[in-house]
Amino acid sequence: MTSLATEPNAPWAKNSDGVRPPAVALHLIDGAWEGEPAVERRNPARPAELAAVSPAGTAEDVDAALAAAVRAQPEWAALPAPSRGAVLIRAAGLLEERAEQIAEDLVREEGKTLAEASGEVKRATDVLRFFSSLGWAPSGEVLPSSLPGTTVTTRREPLGVFALITPWNFPLAIPAWKAAPALVSGNAVVLKPAELTPLSATHLARALHDAGLPAGVFNLVHGKGRVVGEALARDERVAGLSFTGSTAVGLHLKDILDARRARVQLEMGGKNAVLVLDDAAPQAAAAVVAAGAFGLTGQACTATSRVYVTPGIREAFVDALVQQAAAYVPGDGLDGARMGAVVSEAQLTQDAAAVRGAVDRGARLLIGSDDAAPSGGLFFPPTVLTELPDDDPAVTDEIFGPVVVVLEVPDYEAGLAAVNSSQYGLTAGICTDSLALASDFAARAQAGVVKINRPTSGLDLNVPFGGIKDSSTNTFREQGRTAVEFYTWGKTVYLGV
Ligand code: NAD
Repeated sequence: MTSLATEPNAPWAKNSDGVRPPAVALHLIDGAWEGEPAVERRNPARPAELAAVSPAGTAEDVDAALAAAVRAQPEWAALPAPSRGAVLIRAAGLLEERAEQIAEDLVREEGKTLAEASGEVKRATDVLRFFSSLGWAPSGEVLPSSLPGTTVTTRREPLGVFALITPWNFPLAIPAWKAAPALVSGNAVVLKPAELTPLSATHLARALHDAGLPAGVFNLVHGKGRVVGEALARDERVAGLSFTGSTAVGLHLKDILDARRARVQLEMGGKNAVLVLDDAAPQAAAAVVAAGAFGLTGQACTATSRVYVTPGIREAFVDALVQQAAAYVPGDGLDGARMGAVVSEAQLTQDAAAVRGAVDRGARLLIGSDDAAPSGGLFFPPTVLTELPDDDPAVTDEIFGPVVVVLEVPDYEAGLAAVNSSQYGLTAGICTDSLALASDFAARAQAGVVKINRPTSGLDLNVPFGGIKDSSTNTFREQGRTAVEFYTWGKTVYLGV
């Protein structure tokens, strides 16, 4: 067993000569830092630099983490809710104190820009504070009864132990927005972060641990999805699983959880569209689309990847989009780049292959590349494609890179139908000055989130988040007050006096 507190390569440490060693990310099991660091993670912007080393978790690690969680949960649930919230507030304060180091680690392991990473650390901090405040919020109602001398109340109870399985693209914020509502509601959790980004999750674990969270209430097990993730999903001690990641993995996990009727929440892929109408301002609409498509290197489930544009604005909009795209020059996030690196060579290959396939099938490349040859780091330029049929894979399939397709539609109705033609339904946007069409779009767009004259990506932490169709389980929403519903069950109590 290794103690991270005395670990020389602790994530926030620098050597005395100021040189940063590769950070060590360990498991946190039953309040102890464990595991032999074995899996190397290189900085996608500087592949020669080792960003992190983490242990390859096993089914035994999962077993130990779940045993600890089961042991710790009843006492945690018995604490007054404001006391549980107080731990989250202290953890938020620690994230804030360590924000600079955490943001740098996040850039090194994931590749996004420092501004994006700093924003993510702030988001995780705010998320902990938001959910801590729910420790003081009402969690039930008093209802009238038809019976004399009787009071009816409702209350919500924690389910027990939750498994959280998270992706690499928001490696700190997503673990935070799943763990915080679970913990404040009185559950214990076991988090399995993405293999590519072990450090950010370790920073969250470290903050919760240092904030005084009792041993076993929050456990972290690094490792492969097929080993650690599967072991978690299949374990009867897991009362519920919250997953964010690809649709294929999510649906596979749902089958496992459904078979034993455990609770499951999935946030999965997207192919989010923006409809640009003739009455929009071309520059403003292009800014909305560019921010949604190229921000976060396009590696966001809410990223814009399809644009439908009506004939009157098409030319001006496309010119403005291409001009604005050119400003998203990819580079090292720590060197002030406007757009960060692609997370992995596999993702880079996937981005380039998607563009090359479209070009081979006759698409026109307005700006960008279909070449995956890394130039120093794993960089891919902002890419705009046009002149594609509606059923081309570049139009229908998630790419998860800075690639957007622009297609012409004759009018609003055809545009709305095109937006809704996707198998996914996470976010959808419209750029228009027409209140009537914006309102109609808000009502008829098949998506969990609708943005009018705003980028499809980016949501406040206090609003419900989730999609429909293949984007989500479309049952429980994440974030905001509503998030606690997934982590609790409702009870109706009759009190006769
Ligand atoms: P992924 O599905 O490959 O991995 C997600 C997590 O699942 C990782 O921790 C991984 O280790 C684990 N995993 C993989 N195989 C598993 C298995 N067989 N059993 C259990 N766990 C397993 O996704 P990714 O590549 O990390 O992330 C990109 C995907 O995430 C994209 O499709 C994106 O749209 C989606 N995403 C969705 C949202 C949302 O809110 N809808 C947010 C962010 C990312």
